[in-house]
Amino acid sequence: MNIQRAAESRINTIDFQNIGFGQHISDHTFDVVFSNDSWGEGRIKPYGAMHHGLGLHALHYGQAVFEGMKAYRQDDGHVAVFRPDANWARLSRSGSRLLIPEISKEIFMEGLLELLRVDEAWVPTGEDMSLYIRPFLFGSSEFITARPSEEYTFAILTGPVGAYYAQPVKVKIEDHYTRAASGGVGYTKAAGNYGGAFYATAQAQKEGFNQVLWTDHVEHAYLEEAGTMNVAFVLDGVLVTPALTDRILAGITRDSILTLARSWGMPVEERKVSVHELQEHASKGTLQEAFGMGTAAVVSPIDGIGYQGKMMDVPAPQDGVAQRVKKTLADIRHGRAEDVHGWMVRI
Ligand SMILES: *Cc1c(COP(=O)(O)O)cnc(C)c1O
Repeated sequence: MNIQRAAESRINTIDFQNIGFGQHISDHTFDVVFSNDSWGEGRIKPYGAMHHGLGLHALHYGQAVFEGMKAYRQDDGHVAVFRPDANWARLSRSGSRLLIPEISKEIFMEGLLELLRVDEAWVPTGEDMSLYIRPFLFGSSEFITARPSEEYTFAILTGPVGAYYAQPVKVKIEDHYTRAASGGVGYTKAAGNYGGAFYATAQAQKEGFNQVLWTDHVEHAYLEEAGTMNVAFVLDGVLVTPALTDRILAGITRDSILTLARSWGMPVEERKVSVHELQEHASKGTLQEAFGMGTAAVVSPIDGIGYQGKMMDVPAPQDGVAQRVKKTLADIRHGRAEDVHGWMVRI
């Protein structure tokens, strides 16, 4: 691997006490190019402009997929990444649906681990802090014909982040716009899925909500995801989450939380969840918790769910399931609890 180090680090320009989310990018990036049917040599270089003309394929035809994961500073000072193999597998699934050539697990892991070693100082210390990692893969040929790109670029950026949604959020059950349809690309982290969701989210925000609670594309009767997070409910003591379909992104946080809950002996159901069922539980008082699950926020408690002008209030207890999984995941990530599932990879 070719490694070119920055002449000077930018780390002293960062206020780690007020870090925000997604505002800062670390000193170095990793990238590797696919051309003539094979991946070339990976390189690490200082973060900066990329040299592509305006004919860049991904900008016109959207062959672009990404991942999101985090590295943590453990209590003994070591740095460990949470489940990077699962992110690699999902990047391959996303890429395959968009006809993007697969990046081997070896190139992905070597690039990732070497980049983290070079920028290790950027991994912050602190309970809610981590280094966000953004691997992405896009068509990088330059031509303007609607056909697949011939060249592709895989790259990784990182940046230190703090807590995402610190407060419980209010979500609006969306009964008009659709994020994903059957047979489409909803289960992939395709860039266009996010571009297509911003408008509906902005409408919900004008009405005072933080996020959209997406429903199925046919009847708008079944719940799917909360913004860019999977969603779960505690209904009369049972942890219930929509079953995965090709319209739902298979979150690694979702999978980890279901694994933890099952290991505690908590009843878990992956199935369809209708708006009607939620309303019934809300009126009986058995809608005990609702929360989003995703890498950025980990667990994002929901304390209000709006539907057609009415608000269902949801408790966001400090001693509930959401807070328990959040604390358990934090303990595993920071090396305080035994990593029985083998989720952490030290750099
Ligand atoms: C990334 C993402 C999630 C959460 O996935 P994690 O692997 O837990 O980060 C859920 N839904 C959508 C639409 C996403 O893009």
